[in-house]
Amino acid sequence: MRKKEKSVVSIFWFRRDLRLEDNIGLMHALRTRENVLPLFIFDPEVFQRDENNGNVQVGFVYDTILGIKEKLETIGSGLHVAVGKPLDVFKSLMDSYHIFSVYANREYEPYTLQRDDEVDAFLANQGVEFHTYKDQVLFEQNEIVKDNGEPYTVFTAYKQRFLRKLNQSMVVPAPISKYAHNFFRTTPLPVPSLEIMGYSRVEVPVPPRKLPAELLKSYEADRDFPARNGTSHLGVHLRFGTVSIRKVTALAMQHSETFLNELIWRNFYSVILWFFPQVVHTSFKPAFDEIVWENSKEDFKAWCEGRTGYPLVDAGMRELNATGYMHNRVRMVTASFLCKHLLIDWRWGEAYFARKLLDYDLASNNGGWQWAAGSGNDAAPYFRVFNPELQAKKFDPNGEYIAKWVPEYGTISYPKPIIVHAEARKRALARYAEAVKAK
Ligand code: FAD
Repeated sequence: MRKKEKSVVSIFWFRRDLRLEDNIGLMHALRTRENVLPLFIFDPEVFQRDENNGNVQVGFVYDTILGIKEKLETIGSGLHVAVGKPLDVFKSLMDSYHIFSVYANREYEPYTLQRDDEVDAFLANQGVEFHTYKDQVLFEQNEIVKDNGEPYTVFTAYKQRFLRKLNQSMVVPAPISKYAHNFFRTTPLPVPSLEIMGYSRVEVPVPPRKLPAELLKSYEADRDFPARNGTSHLGVHLRFGTVSIRKVTALAMQHSETFLNELIWRNFYSVILWFFPQVVHTSFKPAFDEIVWENSKEDFKAWCEGRTGYPLVDAGMRELNATGYMHNRVRMVTASFLCKHLLIDWRWGEAYFARKLLDYDLASNNGGWQWAAGSGNDAAPYFRVFNPELQAKKFDPNGEYIAKWVPEYGTISYPKPIIVHAEARKRALARYAEAVKAK
């Protein structure tokens, strides 16, 4: 029997850019190539499984790619979905297709950089070009640096430069639909179920993919109050690119400087991770690796379960456990409490958030944790120790957020504080001072 001729295709590899509009890499693929076959890979290194094969983000991603697949099928195309190590997936795709070139948007985490280098080397060996583009951030690592070429390590200076360089032309959407005739024509391609791919779904609510102008207008006034629902909840959509950073930035430029500031933090942490990949495992400021942590397993469990006896901390942890989300102010308070009050290594808390947050992102989570631990690239000194009771008074003045998540607060069934604030503060300052002195 004659072997079936392989189709000649170019691949567009979706990663954290899960949308069919305003997608720079996809636009380049469709503009320059015919027969563009979109691909998504469930890479177990990116979607790590817990002991029950669960991953809080995988269900969201699965539903999103099914949506993309459906849309592609309405125009006679399809999406190839695979599970496994990307290098192996490309090797096996070569058996089914003659691959002309591969397109993708760039990623910046240590693992993804190494993975892309490996894929690039493999493809080059096969005579296949691998083209990558900036899409996920407005400015990549070398685009905002000091005059001497060194990275900024202090946010305010980075932000000033960022704002000087930012202009309207950078947030113009990348057109896709006018090139849609270049998608590969195919009959629908089968997609394995999550279970077959070895994952179990963790059910958490998915926030809408919307950014109303009214929210932006009151963002500055409301953003710090967890009971007000005054933030966008777009974290997961920015993490996986279900909204475009250009679209969100354009709205921020129009309606809210404060919101724009937060988007700049996101870009800043991505660049910090690129320049200083060691932060994944070690403190940004090496002296803080000398801290002698208490690391009490019992205290850690109480923190995880929201049983510390500090109602704002407990409310935050219970919100996280129940919804896969925690308000930013409360992330700061819970994280600071773990590191400073309980003297538990920030990496324990970071790993817990990574497992629970729907919007988990290595760069922002690591940046947030190191900020809270005082070990990161923050201008404020380590001796700022949040007082969780004062934070509650200030940011949840009517106790609504606490009442929602800790309904037993104020009754005898609510636990006594796990540690006295004044003593914890004293102990933390002494322990931090020793570490700084030792270095
Ligand atoms: P909004 O206030 O509406 O902000 C809009 C967007 O700006 C966010 O979706 C996010 O993309 C970005 N942003 C806002 N604040 C920050 C910030 N401080 N740093 C970086 N980006 C920011 N953010 C994550 O996206 N993933 C994480 O894993 C993560 N872990 C964190 C851990 C700790 C300990 C702390 C203190 C913060 C963490 N953050 C993380 C940052 C911030 O808390 C969340 O981005 C924000 O709460 C998400 O809710 P939102 O979309 O309603 O935010």
